[in-house]
Amino acid sequence: MSFKALGLPTTLVEIIEKQEYNAPYPIQKAAIPEILKGRDVLGIAPTGSGKTASYVLPVLSGLRQRKEAKNRQVDVLVLVPTRELAEQVKDVFTLFEKGLEHTAPIMAVYGGVSINPQMKALFGISVLVATPGRLLDLVDSNAVQFDKLQTLILDEADKLLNLGFKEEMNRIFALLPKKRQNLLFSATLKEKVEEIHQES
Ligand code: AMP
Repeated sequence: MSFKALGLPTTLVEIIEKQEYNAPYPIQKAAIPEILKGRDVLGIAPTGSGKTASYVLPVLSGLRQRKEAKNRQVDVLVLVPTRELAEQVKDVFTLFEKGLEHTAPIMAVYGGVSINPQMKALFGISVLVATPGRLLDLVDSNAVQFDKLQTLILDEADKLLNLGFKEEMNRIFALLPKKRQNLLFSATLKEKVEEIHQES
């Protein structure tokens, strides 16, 4: 089974091959075709399983026809528990984004750094990777809008809950369009993760 056989476009497959990803990992085989079809996905996958590429690749494929937008609307929101994961996820999106015909600017936002540069830079962004608290601060400053959001991704959902982000996440869900694709990745499937899967 190759990445091409999973339904990914040639331009993306070429970049995947340069990364020496010889064959898709199990989570990628399972998730990529479903995400490409626009379905919701609940992936139980720990770090190291290849879960990041399992959503980054099909999500980017869905942004191929994207038109440049000079506004504060984002197409894709990835919620992550930590600054480190935000940077890692941004890097994977940035690496593969080169395989798109049109650009889809990517940005990561998190707390612990000044908010002003983030407010300014949040213009024309397609994929926003964010920790929940800083995202809400940016929402309160009108720096980002979600009316056109297509896809919500929760990465390390179990850690988001363990770190006490439930309330922030509920506030964020309430801001998003009801019709959207939901992708949830978690290392474990505990009751609480099932709960946010239902709520998100
Ligand atoms: P992740 O679980 O997303 O943190 O990915 C773990 C590591 O596996 C990263 O360094 C990826 O670059 C690498 N990786 C992801 N998919 C593949 C693949 N199909 N073949 C080889 N390496 C991969």
